[in-house]
Order: sequence, then structure tokens, then C-alpha cells
Amino acid sequence: MGTKFKRLMEALSHTTISDDTVERLKYPKSSLKVSIPVRMDNGDLKNFQGYRVIYNNTRGPAKGGIRFHPDVSIEEVELLAYLMTFKCAVLNLPFGGGKGGVTVDPKSISKFELERLSRGYINAVADFIGPDVDVPAPDVYTNQMIMGWMMDQYSIIHRKITPAVITGKPLSMGGSVGRDTATALGSFFVIRTLMKEQNCKKDSLTVAIQGFGNAGSILAELLFRAGYKIVAVSDSKGAIYSENGLDIPSVRKYKNATRDLKSVYCEDSVCNILEHQTLNNEELLALDVDMLIPAALENQITEVNANAVKAKYVFEVANGPIASGADEILEENGVIIIPDILANAGGVTVSYFEWIQNRTGHYWTLGKVNKRLKQKMVQETKNVLEVSQRESVSIRTAAYIHALNRLEEAVNAGGTKSFYTDGI
Ligand code: GLU
Repeated sequence: MGTKFKRLMEALSHTTISDDTVERLKYPKSSLKVSIPVRMDNGDLKNFQGYRVIYNNTRGPAKGGIRFHPDVSIEEVELLAYLMTFKCAVLNLPFGGGKGGVTVDPKSISKFELERLSRGYINAVADFIGPDVDVPAPDVYTNQMIMGWMMDQYSIIHRKITPAVITGKPLSMGGSVGRDTATALGSFFVIRTLMKEQNCKKDSLTVAIQGFGNAGSILAELLFRAGYKIVAVSDSKGAIYSENGLDIPSVRKYKNATRDLKSVYCEDSVCNILEHQTLNNEELLALDVDMLIPAALENQITEVNANAVKAKYVFEVANGPIASGADEILEENGVIIIPDILANAGGVTVSYFEWIQNRTGHYWTLGKVNKRLKQKMVQETKNVLEVSQRESVSIRTAAYIHALNRLEEAVNAGGTKSFYTDGI
């Protein structure tokens, strides 16, 4: 098994999981590669590459987002679908793991082209997804409107309105209240549960957040309002830092207006009300803070820069921001890591709630969604921490063990080796 399985192997060395389960996790169940011809605004025909992977569906239909990014490849999508398998099991959602993507820089195409590409993607994968088969959702650079176009396209193809085929839709098309804030709110519940369990009484913990998209910016505001001191935030163009803490609601307001953090500070009026410094990405990751929250893309902390990390806690709000090669270095340096398969699972948890609402036709209030989200996140965080203490393993390894136990139960329900061979 390759480096992709390093963390799985580590978990397996602390628990007895049947060979059948491990065998089932070695390869994706299906990996689909498609070409999506799109008529561009200037009349050219351009063929985009798209992917959809069902990694495992032992515990239910596959579940996972679709990302639009220039670096998307089949290898990346397979890895992310593999992670979703564990994420859904950690949260005990009745789903397996899936993921999709298109290799495209969505910022470089027009809105008309984006809609044609989104609908073209569904034309290409329509036979391989479905409410009981594989249920996509938003991921990096895809949003509610794109989910709405995709649901509409699937419904056109199947000649029936099928909201449960995709989650993260606009509210008016069967979306769930609270889905847009779910990843951030889920992370917030994980952070609070961990801080309580660790008896962390410190008043204003310092936080640096990499990535100011949906998850990073909402989490920044939740933490800010709860009294944490957010000293640095960044987007793809750079980072801003203030030792005394940033005024996150103002930063969000200006970012929303200008789409760019740097301009928030350097061209606009917030410059005048806050002392700040600009940093580059590496400097942000190396800040001496209580919590570092990578909420952007994968492989931000690797064996090359892991030694520079000074934070006590790293919360993986992005998927895969720490490369497995950095695990040992961080652990030796005493950094406590809260893994993506727990830390960012709030998004897929509310996706599950959306799927239930679509299937029952009964829509929940925001209070009910957030209450159920809190229950799930707090309960499963406690379960993972309990495994970590009992087995004396890292929180990441504990999350894998917790997921593996659930995956094994589902695999074994279909018959174990001893069931077939006893008495032969
Ligand atoms: N893309 C998100 C994730 O990686 C959400 C997936 C979903 O809601 O299905 O967890």
C-alpha cells in the first residue's frame, strides 16, 4: 500500500480490523473520467476534463463534493473520495465516500461558460450519480448556484425533479437552511469541545487562519465573536496580521465588497482603523499562535516547512492541508492535530440533513439544523478523543480507528471469512 495509506496503516497497527475491510479500502469502487465539450463565448469548442469517483459505498450511497480547480486530477479526486469514506464513517452518516472535479480555473471563464460547463458535467456523469447511488455537493470553487444548475440538469435528463441528487443547493431549490455555514459551525463545535476537554481556560486564544473562503471566513467570525483573538487571515493573494487581533466582521465586510483581502487593508478605510502588517503564506503558517487553521487547499504543511510550525493546535478545516510526510515532525514537536475527517465534517453532516429533507419533503428550521449539527459534532469529537486517550494515539489515528470500526461492522454484516470457512 502506498503513501496514501500511511495514516490508515498507522491506525491498523493499533487495532484489529479484518483483512476483508482492509481489502475493501485498497481501491476505489469506480473512477470515472469524462470529457465535457463546452461552446465558449467566442464560438470555440473547448473540451474540459472531469472526474467522479465512488471510493466506497459499503455504508451507503457515496457522498462528496465537486471541485473546480486548475490542479484537479484523477489522483487528487480519488484521494479526496477516500477521505470522504472515513469522514462519513467518523460522523456515522449513512454514506460512503465520493468526490468529483473538473480541471478548470473557474475565475478564467465567463458566467455563461460556467453554467454550460456545470450542466455539461452532469450530462457526462448522470448515469453514475443519484439519490441512492452517489450524491455530490459543493467543494473548492463550486457554490449553491452551481449545485442548483446541476440539480436542474439531472432533473431534465431524468424527467423528474430530483432534489436529493445533490446537496448544497439554493434554498428555493430544496437546499437546507444552515448548509452554507455548516462547515465553519461544525469546526467551531469541534474546537470548543476539544478546548473544554483539554481544560483550556486561557481567555483569548490566538488564532491564524489560512484561507478566507466560505469555511475560513465564517469560522473566523464565529471564533472572533466567542472571544478568540484572530491575529492573521489570508487568501490566495496574501495574509494580513495584527498582534492585537483583527476586527473580523469589518474584514469580512470589505472582503465581500472587494473580493480581495489585501485591498481591504491597503486601499480601503480599514487601513486607518487597524494596525496591521502583511505576511506571505509561509510566514502565516509559522506564526507563534495557539491555533493554526489551514482552511484553503491540500499539502500546505509538508516535511519541508513542518518544523517551522509553532502553533499548539492545528485544525484541518481544508481537506488534506497537512501532507502525511509532515505528521511525524509535527507530532515530535508536540503539535496537536485535529484531522480534516473530523474538523471539517460539519459540511457533509448538514448535507445529510438536506438529503433527508429532500426525501421526506419536510423542511427543518435553522434552530433544528444547528442543534442536530451540534449534537453530532460534539458527540463524535468526544468519541474520537476517548479513543485517542484509551489507545494512546494521536487524534488523527483515533479518528481513523473510530471510522474503521464502523466500516468493518458494515463489511462484516455481509459475511466474514470465518462465517464462510468455519466447518470447512
Ligand atoms: N466538499 C465538502 C467536504 O469535503 C462537503 C461534502 C458534502 O457535503 O457532501 O466535506
